[in-house]
Amino acid sequence: MQNFIRPSWDDYFMAIARIVATRSTCDRLRAGAVLVKNKRIISTGYNGSPPGLPHCDSEAGHLMEEGHCVRTIHAEHNAILQAATVAGQTTEGATLYALYSPCIHCCKYIVAAGIKRIVIETIYRNSQAIDYLKTAGLEVVFYEPNQEWNNNIKRLFEKNIEKIDEKAVILEENVPIEQKKEPPNNFGQIY
Ligand SMILES: [Zn+2]
Ligand SMILES: [Zn+2]
Repeated sequence: MQNFIRPSWDDYFMAIARIVATRSTCDRLRAGAVLVKNKRIISTGYNGSPPGLPHCDSEAGHLMEEGHCVRTIHAEHNAILQAATVAGQTTEGATLYALYSPCIHCCKYIVAAGIKRIVIETIYRNSQAIDYLKTAGLEVVFYEPNQEWNNNIKRLFEKNIEKIDEKAVILEENVPIEQKKEPPNNFGQIY
């Protein structure tokens, strides 16, 4: 059996952010974000179009403006919007896990949403956003990937990573059905 690895909270939520990013519809950058409060996920976000509008990966393609694709709502922004529309949770005091450093626009929403801590895996384009967030009083953490945990995640997607010992889950002796004692039939017709 493989050694069991229990991830840290940062390892755990960042791994989930990676999964979330796989739903992104803009292949220029597939970003993912997870919004967490009191160690519980309140929402997730990836970069994609608003509901009902064409995505970059449809015939519509990217919507380019000054060298950027502006068709999508960014992952961080979408996580905040999802908290507003679905979860019914306040984002005040939350932690945001982001695969990439947010753009300056998302930084504004992050500050305004009362998010107090951000964990970032990769700096994207420039670090202007980091100073912006720090100036606003956020705790900015650069995630250090845990190689042992990353290897463990890869194994999660392989079959039979931990073969269940079937003998360990037997709940009853292996007695043929006809030999089992019938329960006393004095409780009336309860079914
Ligand atoms: Zn796009
Ligand atoms: Zn953004």
